Amino acid sequence: MLELRNITKRFGDVLANDRVNITVQSGTIHAIIGENGAGKSTAMRIAYGFYTADSGEILIDGTVCRIAAPRDAIARGIGMVHQHFMLVGPMTVAENIVLGAEPGSALALGVTTASADIRRLSGELGLAVDPDAVVDHLSVGQQQRVELLKALYRHAQLLILDEPTAVLTPREVDEFFAILRGMREQGKTVVIITHKLSEVLAISDEVTVMRDGRVVGRLHTKETNAAELARLMVDRDVLLRVDKPAATMLGATTLRVRSLSVRAHDGAARVDRVSFDVRAGEIVGIAGVEGNGQTELIEALSGLAEASTVSGEIRLGDQDITRFGARARRELGIAHIPEDRHRRGLLLEFDLAENSILGVHYRKPAAYAGGILLDDPAIRRHAADIIAAFDVRPANVDLPARALSGGNQQKLIVGREFDLRPTLLLVAQPTRGVDIGAIEFIHRKLIALRDEGCAVLLVSAEIEEVTSLSDRVLVIHRGRIAGEVDPKAATVDEIGLLMTRGH
Ligand code: ADP
Ligand code: MG
Repeated sequence: MLELRNITKRFGDVLANDRVNITVQSGTIHAIIGENGAGKSTAMRIAYGFYTADSGEILIDGTVCRIAAPRDAIARGIGMVHQHFMLVGPMTVAENIVLGAEPGSALALGVTTASADIRRLSGELGLAVDPDAVVDHLSVGQQQRVELLKALYRHAQLLILDEPTAVLTPREVDEFFAILRGMREQGKTVVIITHKLSEVLAISDEVTVMRDGRVVGRLHTKETNAAELARLMVDRDVLLRVDKPAATMLGATTLRVRSLSVRAHDGAARVDRVSFDVRAGEIVGIAGVEGNGQTELIEALSGLAEASTVSGEIRLGDQDITRFGARARRELGIAHIPEDRHRRGLLLEFDLAENSILGVHYRKPAAYAGGILLDDPAIRRHAADIIAAFDVRPANVDLPARALSGGNQQKLIVGREFDLRPTLLLVAQPTRGVDIGAIEFIHRKLIALRDEGCAVLLVSAEIEEVTSLSDRVLVIHRGRIAGEVDPKAATVDEIGLLMTRGH
């Protein structure tokens, strides 16, 4: 149905696609997999006419086509859903779907006619999208279905989906995959870009693996496995499951949380009378669908929450720290790897040296003379040490944080926080958006920290990550601890059920 032949594309010095060949068979689900920056989006944006290739050809149904703009692709039955949605929030679903249709075309006839068509299309695929709903009122998962409908409404026979599951909960992913299978049954063709191996194996018929702008593998999904795909993606063997010995250094209770509540401004309890302990030398995981109080819990524990919203008791060792600010808690040995790197973890315009002392800029090695002067050479040495120990690339302390990929930004934060030699580490979504090579690295470092006697509280929306790293798992649902499970014994389904139903 679609063939890219010898596609090459440069952006300045970056060779984003280097003689790329991809063949997508009609009526299949074809996965394109690779680490961040491998060139996946570029290749598919070229197929969609969003970018023009420097050289190479695009064939549709065996004929060479000129695709100079998305309208050429749409006219030939190709639709694309981008990584970031392009919907207009205050408008209805139907208005969004009709929006951008060629003026004078049948599509522009009117929103009322459209509404009926959309309802029918939505019904055929079991999408359950109300054409008259306002987009701003829809969940992220529903908005994604609107994007799908938008492409289908334009009679797309081939749908390109760029990292469609990044924003979905585990249950939404399952539902979404069921929709894709339904589309395949109707004879449509799907190209799905992802960097998640489990998704490739679950949904695709064929897979193209990319690395450094090149195609490095073309496989039938049935004939491959996660280990082989991972090896192709990063060009070396990757440990997919953390090889974790049981906690041996289990020590005294480091963190003791009693009846902790965090209220939103509207008075609703985001965290609702939560109690648990974390001992030195263990990793306690908090599993849950995002938005069930994890963010507020971590903010309350790290001292970032507004004091007036927090009630209950937080003890570090034998000290009551409930009323301590963030800086005082850091001084006591609480480190924090935040879920939102860009908002809380890094100053993107600042260089790596400056970012390496964020939050500890007032003490050694950064400051001397009573914390007044910043010691530049010492900061640079400190940053260089972290960069070396945590394999941050490129290893240049003068680069702004913005110049690093997400995985490398995360390694810098992890390095900085580990370097504090914390007694308690609060870590949220440690590997979100991080490449599998770096995921393995961060996981090993977390276990090493545990084995040095640190108490670790880990929050993650990835069930696999929580169960493989944690010694104990608490499931959070609507701000409450819905249960504790043994990560070695519980199945993903059992945990998933607690995550969504709460009991
Ligand atoms: P992937 O989708 O596999 O993560 P991309 O295709 O987005 O990778 O990117 C491949 C390479 O091309 C990366 O090094 C990226 O920084 C670069 N790149 C992509 N789009 C642009 C652009 N519009 N301008 C400059 N460089 C780009
Ligand atoms: Mg991409």
